Amino acid sequence: MHTDPNCVFCKIVAGQIPAKKAYEDAELLVFHDINPWAPVHLLVIPKEHVASMYELQESHAPLLGRMMSMAPKLMREHGATNGFRVVINTGEDGRQEVPHVHMHVVGGPRPWAKG
Ligand code: AMP
Ligand code: ZN
Repeated sequence: MHTDPNCVFCKIVAGQIPAKKAYEDAELLVFHDINPWAPVHLLVIPKEHVASMYELQESHAPLLGRMMSMAPKLMREHGATNGFRVVINTGEDGRQEVPHVHMHVVGGPRPWAKG
């Protein structure tokens, strides 16, 4: 599996920096965003280092499908039952800050700080 030793999310995957984990399996990790926009703000990431959506291949389709399909379950488990947003910022114009693909799943009662 490809990893980047300088990547903050690869370091979370490797257990080198702490995160509040919500779900983990062989290919995916879900943890709470350190700077949440809303009452529930999770990040869903592949354990493999993929820098952005631009680097995704057709072969990643099943993984992306799993990331997307786990969002409603995660939100229900965290009490966000009245709606949520899914956001994947990509590249500079997409305001992607961490260059490891991640899906924001954001929900819970309004008001939100952002989004
Ligand atoms: P983006 O702008 O889409 O790249 O979002 C990156 C997100 O990662 C931001 O919402 C940050 O708050 C979050 N983040 C950065 N470092 C950490 C970390 N160590 N643990 C949890 N979330 C983080
Ligand atoms: Zn990475």
